[in-house]
Amino acid sequence: MDGEQWCLAVPKREAEARRRRLLEEGLLDRRYKPRPEGETILFPVTEEVPGATRCEFEAVPERAELPRHELVGGIAIMQENDPGGAERLLASRPSLETVLFPAGPVEGEYRTRRFAVLAGVPSTRTRVTEYGFSFDVDLALAYFSARLSTERQRVLETMAEGERVLDMFAGVGPFAITLSRRAGLVVAADLNPAAVHLLVHNIALNRATNVIPVLADAVHLARLGFRPFDRIVMNLPLAAPQFLATAAALCRDGGTIHLYALEEREGEFLPLIRAVTGGKVAERRVRTYSPGKWHAVYDIVVEKEER
Ligand code: SAM
Repeated sequence: MDGEQWCLAVPKREAEARRRRLLEEGLLDRRYKPRPEGETILFPVTEEVPGATRCEFEAVPERAELPRHELVGGIAIMQENDPGGAERLLASRPSLETVLFPAGPVEGEYRTRRFAVLAGVPSTRTRVTEYGFSFDVDLALAYFSARLSTERQRVLETMAEGERVLDMFAGVGPFAITLSRRAGLVVAADLNPAAVHLLVHNIALNRATNVIPVLADAVHLARLGFRPFDRIVMNLPLAAPQFLATAAALCRDGGTIHLYALEEREGEFLPLIRAVTGGKVAERRVRTYSPGKWHAVYDIVVEKEER
């Protein structure tokens, strides 16, 4: 064996679907060979995802020298500023068009970052396909993370047909358009004009005729006169808790809010949630953010006082 890695054990019958998902989310560590163990396949993963343990793997000979990267459609985002490695990466996969290196952190209200082009076509725009949906993204203009694709499916699977959904921080629309598959209506808001421009484009691209794009600061949504929503998605991990009271006002009694938050202590936002909504809450880790910090999702069933 060539190295100890984070690893996910997946039942054999689910292995191929899970392998594709891990690949789309940039979580499959392609430097190592997945291997069978009993009734499972062990997949090497790039970080400590929920359920991961440590296992030994053999390196894939031809890929062992490729630099670590995350895939977003035809773009690879490298963790090192290594133009030579970027050229090798580009040559290793015909579907890759561009290799980028982040020239700064994710920042500002729009949650975007600057990139340097290390190899290939000098563009930050690409098309991502995810569970039968297509999203055109521009990584320099609007936020997008392929790592949330499993989370979007999880939320979709909890939905009943015909729900009224609000996505308060919709970006280019991955949650809104995914959830539109079961929803009666989705209102998708964002304050970044470039994100809403791509959202409108992606609504048309996916023929999602039940998604209404809104260019607005979420703080104003309660004043637009919408009927209460059955489900509200709040995916702005650094600041969403500040908008929880607005979300609670927009949610029906018994409706669900999915609050994504960056935390460093389990249950960090429970006191706030209890103070604002008073309903049942389930918390789970979504992904690691940095050592000692992670993205959590709180699924909150809203209980209004008049019940
Ligand atoms: N939900 C999308 C996704 O999963 O790709 C985007 C999530 S991104 C972390 C958060 C988004 O919230 C950004 O597109 C940003 O422009 C938007 N945003 C930030 N503050 C906002 C506000 N006050 N009102 C509405 N949108 C906001």
